[in-house]
Amino acid sequence: MSKKRVYEIARELGVPSKELIQALAEMGMPGLKAVNTVDEEEAEVIRELFLEHKGQSTVEGAEGEGIPTPVAVEPAPAKQKPKVGEPRPPVVAVLGHIDHGKTTLLDTIRKTHVTQQEAGGITQSIGAYQAEVDGRLITFIDTPGHKAFTAMRARGAQVTDIAVLVVAADDGVMAQTLEAIDHIKAAGVPMIVAINKIDKPEANPDRVRQELAQLGYTPEDWGGDTIMVPVSALTGEGVQDLLEMILLVADMEDIRGDPGGELDAIVIESHMDTARGAVATVIVKNGTLRERDIIVVGTTWGRIRALVDHQGKRIKEAGPGTPVQILGLEDVPPAGERVELVRKPNQAKALVEERRRKALEARRVARPLMTFEDLFEAAQRKRLAVVLKAESMGALDAARLELGTIETEGVDLDVLHAGVGPINESDILLVASVEDAQPLVVGFGVKVDPKARRAADERGIPVRTYDIIYDLTQDIERAMKRLLGPEFVEVKVGEAEVLKTFDIDGVGRVAGCVVRSGKVVRGARVKVLRLGEEVFVGEIGSLKRFAQDVREVQAGRECGIRIRDYDRVQVGDILEIYTLEEVPA
Ligand code: GDP
Repeated sequence: MSKKRVYEIARELGVPSKELIQALAEMGMPGLKAVNTVDEEEAEVIRELFLEHKGQSTVEGAEGEGIPTPVAVEPAPAKQKPKVGEPRPPVVAVLGHIDHGKTTLLDTIRKTHVTQQEAGGITQSIGAYQAEVDGRLITFIDTPGHKAFTAMRARGAQVTDIAVLVVAADDGVMAQTLEAIDHIKAAGVPMIVAINKIDKPEANPDRVRQELAQLGYTPEDWGGDTIMVPVSALTGEGVQDLLEMILLVADMEDIRGDPGGELDAIVIESHMDTARGAVATVIVKNGTLRERDIIVVGTTWGRIRALVDHQGKRIKEAGPGTPVQILGLEDVPPAGERVELVRKPNQAKALVEERRRKALEARRVARPLMTFEDLFEAAQRKRLAVVLKAESMGALDAARLELGTIETEGVDLDVLHAGVGPINESDILLVASVEDAQPLVVGFGVKVDPKARRAADERGIPVRTYDIIYDLTQDIERAMKRLLGPEFVEVKVGEAEVLKTFDIDGVGRVAGCVVRSGKVVRGARVKVLRLGEEVFVGEIGSLKRFAQDVREVQAGRECGIRIRDYDRVQVGDILEIYTLEEVPA
């Protein structure tokens, strides 16, 4: 296919590159540079858009210029799983301990189950590929490991439908195996275990089964419900079985997508390409992405100039379950970001500008150093999600035991992961990925690695380290109490009886009262008791004595009370006046 530079197209059209680029930006294809290269099909899209723009600007003048109107931007697509549609390819991620064979497994599947377009043609990975098994497709995310997996989830995106946990049969369950399991558990996706390297003489698959069973994952053939498939990623043995199991689980999960439904597409990889501009790979989970669609992705946008599939082939559209590379964005969006469809470039620009402004503001009010209490003051959630790291297995067990003794009514303590070693980035991403819980990462006798520190700062995740176990448990207990918020008690300050009522235009009903005991205070809380029963609880809106506003009225005196938002007070009602006082939790 012949390639062209953008400036060459401009020359053909007889306009300066600058003018062409400007016109394309107005038509919703921002971010192009004169030196970028495009193929013949992309060039065609560019020519058409330019001519369309020319037609528009002679008819409508400079519409689309200047400040974008901040109107009618599309709402973010709903996150819920589509129930309708057709079965779509499941999206699978591969996780496990280092050197257990994740990369080899992904390579083997690619070699044996991806139908090659051209013999000898090397296709560059776009971050995901589709394998064909018994005439059906499985989409694999081909960056293995739980970091990518959880980074995405930390943005609230759930791209993976099924997780494959790779455990080497000669090594067994290791630290990162445990981490991976916790990450999969937190994501709530079904897990299939690939017991790898069974070709090795020292392989002991039963030991792996045993270790996993001890963790609560009993293999199916032992009467449990965890699917475990022995494989050799190197020789390919068992790989077909593994793929068939993935399809089986996909069927059980009833994974569907509706090509005509609302778009749900998530970025899994992105980079800036000097020749092609911003490139992002997304996986479409629902709906369809098409060439020329105008999209907003987080704080960037663009009109899709080209869609490229996992074999480097240009496609016109991408439906549910498909990984696809997008060209035409103004900038590089981060992994985990959602793609939203909009109708007009102006809507896209307005949405993006609004988001950029908000992001900037949020950065400006970067919080000063906070106390442990402050961190939790604003939290509305009643669950504390904790990752606990310790220097040794012994220390970890001790800390876990202590944490188990903490009980605070009304707050749950959820230890997402407990492991040995320094606090790392994936620990931060794990707590950040949990919704409706206050995140917290604690270390016992361990350090925080700098990347983890940065990730925590960016996301506002509190991280604390301790050398004394007692301090750790004390802080966690305090944090949990804080989540409950302060407690209030009612303190009675007085009582009044309603002698008369007046309905005043524009004000409402006013109760003429005599204060029987204590005092009545403006702004205080009030309970209306009728025949000993509480009929209303509210606040004293205004308090008058001889038509004068007063702050309080003492026992024995008469006054006029207006209860805020309440017009049904009656003669004979008793008004119980009280205040709410905070008691430290
Ligand atoms: P990753 O870190 O989990 O991605 O592991 P790799 O795929 O890089 O594999 C680590 C090493 O184990 C490499 O030297 C592989 O060749 C080897 N390996 C992976 N799978 C197998 C297998 O099934 N059998 C044998 N014998 N070696 C394997």
